[in-house]
Amino acid sequence: MVRRVAVVGAGVSGLAATKCCLEEGLEPTCFEQSENVGGLWHYTDRAEEGRASIYRTVFTNSCKEMMCYPDFPFPDDHPNYMHNARLQHYICKYAEHFDLLRHVRFKTLVTKVKKRPDFSVTGQWEVVTRRDGKEETAVFDAVMVCSGHHVYPNLPLAEFPGIQKFKGCYFHSREYKEPEKFRGKKVLVIGLGNSGCDIAAELSTVASQVYLSSRSGSWVMSRVWDNGYPWDMLVITRFRTWLGNILPRAISDWLYVRGMNRFFKHENFGLMPLDRTSRKEPVFNDDLPSRIACGVVVMKPNVKEFRETSVLFQDGTVQDDVDVVVFATGYSYSYPFMEDDSIIKCRDNQVTLYKGILPPRLEKPTMAVIGLVQSLGPIIPTADLQCRWAVKVFQGRWLGKCWVKGCFLTTLQTDYITYMDELASAIGVKPNVLKLLLTDPQLALKVFFGPCSPYQFRLVGPGKWSGARKAILTQWDRTLQ
Ligand code: FAD
Repeated sequence: MVRRVAVVGAGVSGLAATKCCLEEGLEPTCFEQSENVGGLWHYTDRAEEGRASIYRTVFTNSCKEMMCYPDFPFPDDHPNYMHNARLQHYICKYAEHFDLLRHVRFKTLVTKVKKRPDFSVTGQWEVVTRRDGKEETAVFDAVMVCSGHHVYPNLPLAEFPGIQKFKGCYFHSREYKEPEKFRGKKVLVIGLGNSGCDIAAELSTVASQVYLSSRSGSWVMSRVWDNGYPWDMLVITRFRTWLGNILPRAISDWLYVRGMNRFFKHENFGLMPLDRTSRKEPVFNDDLPSRIACGVVVMKPNVKEFRETSVLFQDGTVQDDVDVVVFATGYSYSYPFMEDDSIIKCRDNQVTLYKGILPPRLEKPTMAVIGLVQSLGPIIPTADLQCRWAVKVFQGRWLGKCWVKGCFLTTLQTDYITYMDELASAIGVKPNVLKLLLTDPQLALKVFFGPCSPYQFRLVGPGKWSGARKAILTQWDRTLQ
């Protein structure tokens, strides 16, 4: 019987895990290497070892009504998209409100997680931690890995011939904090993800020129969507997901491409994704198109070769006198505390998890990896639901037959609502729209046609929140305020 749960990390996922354990009567101990909750959202002037690092101007790209914890809405007066400091403040308030801090052991690094010798019978783990140089070992019935996935930089220098000869400076986007020291420089940013776009657009306000190199393009979306409403409140709806499922693929692809091109034609801006109909996560940036239109950011294809002071691109063009290169090339998965990290990682450094949560090779399902799936949806409600699902699995109250057969998800990229509904159905918390239509038609219409906001997953079933109905009915009021 699972009772004691070790939670690795006190970011948004670790706090959700701690709260969900408490809700189910388990005893969580959350280990956090730093002195703060919030993980990635706790800004520091320097990147810290083993912890995600953000730049000073990071704003959320999910709006407040879509990215809150499902039983803890943001205050009315908060803007729809938030600066990292505001989100960090909210995360601290959440931890205080649900009295989670007394379960967090700060300044405590998890150095090892390994199976106990009798794991195949007990499913128990040995967790070794270090605090002030002192090691401690404890046994836990289950482990929730909430250590984050934007920590270990992916810096594929081998794919960039000549980089050793390059005399300018280069670094990974993880090290980037603010633009001032790049004033007057010629900068090349490599990578068209969220960080690459943000950094390129920000640097273009001070640099003499910014080049943004992309191998395969990306859809670039604006936070501000039709009539100025938050994009996610209009795009992430049950109605749209339903439509996407019933329409023939060709029509849904056409609608998708049309939607993505509604504000500007990506082709004209050198941004067009190579695979235009793949539902690869788009990038959010309200400034980039105008920075390109003003010529201060110039789009470039992949780099072919670095020379001492210049860069040759795949299309044969050369840019001279490049001072700085920022590799916004993403992150790799790493679990340095796992004695056997092949439990989570498999071939080619990839991660394959049952329902995007459980490592599939374990004899007992007593480990959960939280916050790793990628979808168009926000992480906080996803992590909350994943934790509720995982805790039920730990308690043996729900375990799909697929687990026994060894069937598991092969991709971590997923459709938000489909994925959330799958987890929610399994633990009896998915809202039944047809039933609602009979009992509470006003709510049913909001649930189906309105934004699929996090409150929907705390409306019914175990862990339901009495404020969920009101929160759904008033979500647009808070947005407008
Ligand atoms: P983290 O926030 O990384 O927290 C992990 C915690 O674990 C850290 O506190 C770390 O110190 C601790 N830890 C790690 N290893 C150990 C160990 N061995 N022992 C003890 N403690 C340990 N998502 C959204 O939904 N909306 C957004 O707008 C959004 N914007 C983003 C912008 C940027 C620039 C980036 C990089 C990501 C963004 N994300 C966004 C995704 C982001 O990953 C999540 O929002 C979220 O912060 C992930 O939380 P987490 O708790 O899983 O991990």
